[in-house]
Amino acid sequence: MQKSQEGFAWTAKDGFQYGLTTAAVVPSTPKSDLSSSYDVIVIGAGFAGLTAARELAFKGKNVLVIEARDRIGGRCWTVQTGKDSKVEIGGTWVHWQQPHVFSELQRYGLDDFEETVAFPENCESAAKESRSQPAVVQDPAEGRVMMEQLEGLMMRFFDVDGQGGRSIIPFPFSTASSVRQNPDYLELDRLSVRDRVAQLEGCTQEQQSMLSAHAASFYGISPEKASLTEVLHTHALCNFDPAMIETATMKYKVAKGTTAFALAILEDYKGDRILNSPVTSITQGDGEFPVTVTLKNGERYLSKTVISTVPINVISSIVFDPPLSTLRKEAFTTGVTPARQISSFCEGGDMPYASGFTDGNHGDHTLLTLLVHPDNGLDHSDETIRLVESLRPAGIQVESAYAHLWSDDPYAGGVMPVRGPGFLQKYNHEIRKPHENVYFCGSDFADGWRGFISGAFEDAYRVTREILTQN
Ligand SMILES: Cc1cc2nc3c(=O)[nH]c(=O)nc-3n(C[C@H](O)[C@H](O)[C@H](O)COP(=O)(O)OP(=O)(O)OC[C@H]3O[C@@H](n4cnc5c(N)ncnc54)[C@H](O)[C@@H]3O)c2cc1C
Repeated sequence: MQKSQEGFAWTAKDGFQYGLTTAAVVPSTPKSDLSSSYDVIVIGAGFAGLTAARELAFKGKNVLVIEARDRIGGRCWTVQTGKDSKVEIGGTWVHWQQPHVFSELQRYGLDDFEETVAFPENCESAAKESRSQPAVVQDPAEGRVMMEQLEGLMMRFFDVDGQGGRSIIPFPFSTASSVRQNPDYLELDRLSVRDRVAQLEGCTQEQQSMLSAHAASFYGISPEKASLTEVLHTHALCNFDPAMIETATMKYKVAKGTTAFALAILEDYKGDRILNSPVTSITQGDGEFPVTVTLKNGERYLSKTVISTVPINVISSIVFDPPLSTLRKEAFTTGVTPARQISSFCEGGDMPYASGFTDGNHGDHTLLTLLVHPDNGLDHSDETIRLVESLRPAGIQVESAYAHLWSDDPYAGGVMPVRGPGFLQKYNHEIRKPHENVYFCGSDFADGWRGFISGAFEDAYRVTREILTQN
């Protein structure tokens, strides 16, 4: 198995080593077998790109996948940490409540799961504001009371219509149908999480702060930047059942790993691929192959149609000619805020670890999954890695750590883009329509489980359907 250049491993014995071993590193199609022109070029070999490529090749299209990284899987990859041990470095949890990913897992016989018990019964939780302050340990009973209080507040937060939000997003997999059924959806989308919290009467200042922080903590951005409906939408996808959110989004891991999943799709795809090759520009003109895709090394490939699955957070690194509309450019930049995997519970503190939980076993050891504040130099300081140990005064010893700094990743730019207030009315239609022969696709564009693995499949089906009906 090969090493990707991405990510790093730290062990108590050997310190830092850069690059991680993964089956996701695969070779490109030999240059001599490549054509100079294709029916469809797909940019990106994450789940959206691999699926779109597979579907179009099944339909007889001549397809080329171009990927910037040295590996497939995009924001999901599994690292082999020992003969029988592995860890997920990006997108991890899936659920049968997420129909598109579940059906794909079944298709490849990968619907065998490992369970994460993130917050075991009677588990103590510890908070530490800064390196110098001691950890404050909350006993399990106190923690339960706080969670119950939060759940009650969240139900009030969601109850924008006297029906727990149900009338606002009746069809969570179709924004257009939901808006047709209830145009109030667009009105509510103008509100931020903070605006909605301010509407709740009778909340103390402390409850308001707790609620604001909790509602936006899923994305790790400040509450005025996330739209209320983005949070309500996840609630709608979970059947308006608060207990479902944790179950559907952080409980079940693909037992064989997300890389095995990506490899199964790659194996099914009958077409060409180039790895290690960032696309720098997409130019459109006339003729049988009107789109020219240029790579960083200067190579060019022609195509009738292009699908870009480049994440919204980093799309502006590609030069488009003709340029994208002003509205679309605005949507891709100021319309969204990159979710950066931080929790606002620790806002203002200087602890690098915003939150974390136990996540099963790693060999004979307990596996901890930690969300980290960006910009902490986690990849070069022993002392920073070891700060985890200070979170549990009763004792904990970090043996090894594996990570990739997603916020610094030039091909992801964070976890996902979070839509701000007013996004739906202003930008949603614009970003999902093609730019002449270039289609935008991926989890960031999905209507249903947007920002999740399932959304990557959902949106690949949408875009391949659009291309096949057009051509
Ligand atoms: C830390 C983290 C945790 C997450 N947790 C979960 C989870 O538990 N469950 C869940 O469902 N989802 C989770 N997600 C989200 C999930 O991983 C993504 O929504 C999904 O993988 C996106 O798939 P995609 O194909 O749309 O995009 P991507 O996987 O990002 O694929 C896009 C591809 O385009 C490539 N690319 C970018 N720029 C260029 C360029 N210029 N030229 C060529 N190629 C380019 C990228 O390298 C990438 O391979 C998480 C994501 C992260 C980062």
